[in-house]
Amino acid sequence: MALNKMGICHVCGTETTSTNGLCKYHQMLHMRKWRENNKKKVKETQQSKQRKDKLIVINKISKGINCCICCSEKDIKFLTLDHIHGDGAEKRKETGSRGGWMYYSWLIANNFPEDHKLQIMCYNCNCAKRDNNNICPHEEERQLAIKLKEQEDNEKYSLPLFLDF
Ligand SMILES: [Zn+2]
Ligand SMILES: [Zn+2]
Ligand SMILES: [Zn+2]
Repeated sequence: MALNKMGICHVCGTETTSTNGLCKYHQMLHMRKWRENNKKKVKETQQSKQRKDKLIVINKISKGINCCICCSEKDIKFLTLDHIHGDGAEKRKETGSRGGWMYYSWLIANNFPEDHKLQIMCYNCNCAKRDNNNICPHEEERQLAIKLKEQEDNEKYSLPLFLDF
């Protein structure tokens, strides 16, 4: 009896010369699926590393407080790094980081260099600050309220004493 080199695809039953029990078509499908699964896995690993890096950086920069320094937002998904002096674009460029994730891992790898003056803000405060001469409108309001209060107090204390009688 001649040696039969033909196998049968165990998915569709087609005769095949391959030894792994798959016809050409199903072998191709199998490979494609494997690649897709792999890609997904690589992406998932990457994302969980990025999430971990972000947690580390936020925790370190906020000294464990983990909220927006301006409005106290606590949800990590809303939090981001703010360059106190508004020099974020330059600082990030110096590190060669494309995007926030690379900057997070750069900071960790470089042990948080002193000349990167950072604080934690939510995206809201961060964007508003950037568009408002490097001061969040929340902070502006607070400063104004303090000033008004001081003025009020000054006026109160500068009233002539005899009005008390
Ligand atoms: Zn098949
Ligand atoms: Zn905020
Ligand atoms: Zn704010």
